[in-house]
Amino acid sequence: MKTPSPGTPPAANDLTGLRGVGPALAERLARLNIERPTDLLFLLPLRYEDRTRLTPLGAALPGMRTVVEGDIALAEVAFRRRRMLLVRITDGSGQLTLRFFHFSRAQQAGLKPGERVRCYGEVRKAPGGIEMIHPEYRILGPAGEHGLEDRLTPIYPTTEGLQQARLRNLAGQAIDRCLPLVTDWIPAQIAAAKGLPDLDTAIRTVHRPPPDIDLNQLAAGTHPGQRRLALEEMLAHHLSLRRIREQSRSQPAIPLRGAHALRDRFLASLPFQLTGDQRTALDDIEADLAGAHPMMRLVQGDVGCGKTVVAAAAALAAVAEGHQVAVMAPTELLGEQHRDSFAAWLAPLGITVAWLSGSLRKKARETVYAAIADGEAEVIIGTHALFQEAVEYHSLALVIVDEQHRFGVHQRLRLMEKGRLGKALPHQLVMTATPIPRTLAMTAYADLDTSVIREMPPGRQPVRTVALPEERRAEIVTRVRDACRAGQRAYWVCPLIEESDVIDSQAAESMHALLTDALPELSVGLIHGRMKPGDKERAMHAFAAGKTQVLVATTVIEVGVDVAEATLMIIENAERLGLSQLHQLRGRVGRGSDASHCVLLYRSPLSAMAKRRIGVLRETNDGFEVAERDLELRGPGEVLGTRQTGLMQLRVADLIRDADLAPTVQQIARTLLETSPDAATALIERWIGTSSRFGNV
Ligand code: ADP
Ligand code: MG
Repeated sequence: MKTPSPGTPPAANDLTGLRGVGPALAERLARLNIERPTDLLFLLPLRYEDRTRLTPLGAALPGMRTVVEGDIALAEVAFRRRRMLLVRITDGSGQLTLRFFHFSRAQQAGLKPGERVRCYGEVRKAPGGIEMIHPEYRILGPAGEHGLEDRLTPIYPTTEGLQQARLRNLAGQAIDRCLPLVTDWIPAQIAAAKGLPDLDTAIRTVHRPPPDIDLNQLAAGTHPGQRRLALEEMLAHHLSLRRIREQSRSQPAIPLRGAHALRDRFLASLPFQLTGDQRTALDDIEADLAGAHPMMRLVQGDVGCGKTVVAAAAALAAVAEGHQVAVMAPTELLGEQHRDSFAAWLAPLGITVAWLSGSLRKKARETVYAAIADGEAEVIIGTHALFQEAVEYHSLALVIVDEQHRFGVHQRLRLMEKGRLGKALPHQLVMTATPIPRTLAMTAYADLDTSVIREMPPGRQPVRTVALPEERRAEIVTRVRDACRAGQRAYWVCPLIEESDVIDSQAAESMHALLTDALPELSVGLIHGRMKPGDKERAMHAFAAGKTQVLVATTVIEVGVDVAEATLMIIENAERLGLSQLHQLRGRVGRGSDASHCVLLYRSPLSAMAKRRIGVLRETNDGFEVAERDLELRGPGEVLGTRQTGLMQLRVADLIRDADLAPTVQQIARTLLETSPDAATALIERWIGTSSRFGNV
């Protein structure tokens, strides 16, 4: 391994050193976080197009994206509802129409009968044949002038005013000029042991894949070239988390030691006893809080295991010594629920619980700001609003973040920074209901110590899960009617909120209408992400209070919502959702002592993978088990991963798909941190950039 040479040549540092890049283009590139030519190397294609082969027109089928070529037989401007240019091309084997709705005079003049044209686009069915709408095309000169591409064509993520062709050209320049200057920090023998190529090969492969590459692997992101980059990206994130941890842990914090009496009074006031795991987690937390450096602890526990009460008990350690606690929830809905639980638990102990959300009116908000600033508010519950500029804490000693996979690590850091008291940094407690396997946790949460609550509160009955084809929906409606008449409540979840012919999915709105019709004796509520916060709140309250007995919802209810009377969970289009999402949704029921059921409605035929997912849910209620099985089941082609859940902002890697790389990541990280901290810095810089880039994580 080399250390970076001090003076890198200017071409490697300045975008305008690339051909065709001036200040305006540099600015557009900056929007893609491309500030230096080397950043282009790590801008990875979203997908690829195969322009290496010509498909004879007679063999072109609807749905194919391909290159075709033919002689123009006919070109005309037609009016069929709107004006369009139609160009018929033939090649002896068949014919195809090019259809343009927008075209310039020059284009029209160029596309004239007798010319030979090559096009790339999607073949579609058209009345009486096949067509391409707005294909990319070029008029061919004398035969043989233009060869086909010899590599697959990468399609990059782009931004307005920046064309693919331009981006491709720039990436090409970066590969030719800068790639030789880029240091490969991963020892060759470690990469080779995982069957992975060196960095140079990996980058060349992903930007310019040879035509004989395994397209399925490439599409699934499992090609060794992609995995090599994923390894490096995971390593960079892991290193950055370990840095964050070191830096935070090296700062002082206020030791919180004397809360035991208050905490015991609180626990005695509860109608239940903590489970063993809750107790252990609380012990871990209290031990950390007593330390002179900030606690950085994650409590991992399945939905319903009772993390909130542990958080409330932990908060008392700060309150008992006159300090404040901020509790941050990812959604208003969940925030309100915490506000209600904390208020019900803590107000009787004489503790002031405040609520701060973005939707408070100005006046109310200012009153809360004042209470936070003068220390009257002791426990402050809220959403992102908690770390806005205008909020000034009197004495923040503990930050609790719920469902942290919805927050970036840098949002947490900002909240901690906000609470800085002189030199002291607040303690932080993070709670997540996304159980992830241990090796992954060590990579993804490298900045945190972990406590696990695996035990469920006693008396819970496991949720029984059944899967039914949607043709049997009527039976379920009857079932819901009977259950709700007997005092129970039901969630009916639809993945989308509007009919869409692109994704054939049930919509919450039409389901709401349907159920309102079918269940005249019941009151059916509706909640979805596009409703105003106030309306969502009302819908949720009505359901919690039993004013509505059925709640039709999109996946907005996924996070943390707690209604003990809800015993039925019906999930439409269950075949479309991933295992962990289905498990999270199922966790909304089975929270009281009544037997609960989860019905997975699906559209036949089920894919083999969907069958197995549903099978797992029927077999187990244990979130950790579900997570492990999820890992096993995710094969190539499965797109849902941690990238989507936002555990980390990753470009190439998918923590679930690439989970087998986690031990290697940890192994390399140990060596690098010991032997070459500069390499660690360089890798973080390469993949994550400098902290200035974290503006809007
Ligand atoms: P989650 O871990 O999903 O956030 P909650 O904190 O919302 O779970 O707890 C779910 C429900 O279980 C709440 O109504 C809570 O009061 C209750 N609960 C928590 N701990 C216990 C316990 N030890 N015994 C009985 N009920 C409990
Ligand atoms: Mg919770």
